[in-house]
Amino acid sequence: MKKNIPEKGAVLQRDGETYAIKVHMPGGYTTPQELRTVADVAERHGIPTVKVTIAQRIALIGVPEEKIDAVRADLGELEDGATGLCIRYVKMCPGATWCKRGHKATHDIGMAMDQRFHRLQVPWKFKMAVSGCVNDCTEVCIRDLGLIGTAAGWNVMIGGNGGSRPRFSVLLVENVPTENEALAVLDKVVDWCKSLERKCRIGKVVEELGVEAVRKQIFGQ
Ligand code: SF4
Repeated sequence: MKKNIPEKGAVLQRDGETYAIKVHMPGGYTTPQELRTVADVAERHGIPTVKVTIAQRIALIGVPEEKIDAVRADLGELEDGATGLCIRYVKMCPGATWCKRGHKATHDIGMAMDQRFHRLQVPWKFKMAVSGCVNDCTEVCIRDLGLIGTAAGWNVMIGGNGGSRPRFSVLLVENVPTENEALAVLDKVVDWCKSLERKCRIGKVVEELGVEAVRKQIFGQ
């Protein structure tokens, strides 16, 4: 029985034979050159399906095992999307740079989050997002950790997830004034998550301990 090959970013498909290779495109931002590379690789290797994913990546679906290395090599500098027990992605909405409803620009802070956290090993599956306002188009409400822009700063939200036991994230810190301070808070939260021995979504831990106790454990106050 074949399995996922996380070190190659290859995920076994339903047919039990072929794989999906995910191309990491932070926040869904890409360039014409990157798209040409993906298109060329798909054509060259006869990959039957190319899909934009929910994680704002592109997946090449239906890659036979013997072609994985060649596909990866031809993708060149395009990084593969994280799989397994790690921080899988940081979703980003367009934010106030482009969206007329946004309170905060999300591009720079989202990219900083991606550089810091994408692929980081944690005890369990972990997803992040940043939204530029409370409309929350990237659904921080169901991510393990994320930021929502407000008129006064960034709300840090923790403990959301989808799946068979969905949970809404809860407010951990309100209106953190600057991007650097918000990133520093995220660093502390992620360090705390990494230190946990529990093998479960963070939302389950938050649910069991209560957000006050979690706050105390993370910030010591
Ligand atoms: S969350 Fe707010 S800023 Fe981001 S796309 Fe939605 S409405 Fe615009």
